Amino acid sequence: MTRKKFYISVDLEGMACVVGAYGKGLSPDTPNYQFACLQGTREANAAATALFDSGADEVYVWDCHAMGVNLDYDKLDKRCSIVMGSGMRKRFPDIDESFGGIVFLGYHAYDTSEATLAHVYSSATFQYQKINGKDVGEMQVDALIAGRYGVPPIFCAGDNYCVAQAKESFDGIVTVETKKALAWNSCISKHPIKCCEEIYEGVKKAAAEADKMKPYTVGEPFEYEVRYKRIEYAQGCTYRDINNNLFERTDAYTRKGLIMKPEHIFEF
Ligand SMILES: [Zn+2]
Repeated sequence: MTRKKFYISVDLEGMACVVGAYGKGLSPDTPNYQFACLQGTREANAAATALFDSGADEVYVWDCHAMGVNLDYDKLDKRCSIVMGSGMRKRFPDIDESFGGIVFLGYHAYDTSEATLAHVYSSATFQYQKINGKDVGEMQVDALIAGRYGVPPIFCAGDNYCVAQAKESFDGIVTVETKKALAWNSCISKHPIKCCEEIYEGVKKAAAEADKMKPYTVGEPFEYEVRYKRIEYAQGCTYRDINNNLFERTDAYTRKGLIMKPEHIFEF
């Protein structure tokens, strides 16, 4: 391991034994949310411990679900730096070329028929997003942002669909399947403690191979397409392309245009 700083990006929908609730996703008033926070803390610890045991000297744990205040911070490995809260409008604060890799925990698939809690950013707002004509999820966009600093995605844990999408996007990424999806709010999960053991082993393997892993890039500029769930959202879309024109409206719900940086996706 030559670069000894790592980022663990912790979403919650992809954690073991997390299914949210019908019609609500994983909002804080659902009975499954408290468990998701507990398991998020455990999975983050498993990954952080694996990184430190592999020789890392700095690990950022980013609490990135919803408003960024989910994990039980007292229980996190005290060597970690904790990125949390909302309103900064920047992905991966402090990231630069000195980081050796991104560990994705609790991420979920982009919209597919059966994946557990599949969505992009907001299941109430967006139908899908595409880059250069191909469906992508939050994990791919985050990896693209890290890729601009030369930082590769090295590990992903999530349901079987999320893991399959990660493998399709990122050559050589190490993965752990936390659960098999049965429906949007249903799964057959691995035991949460067993999952943490597998994450520890998987992240150790990923850390050992991190130097060989490639950052995720798609070339610049690239075409970004977003389909909204409501016509008025598409009407109100303020994205601008590389010529500073509003994105083209391709149908009632959809906008697309060429942009230079994946960071622009968050400027809506
Ligand atoms: Zn989330």
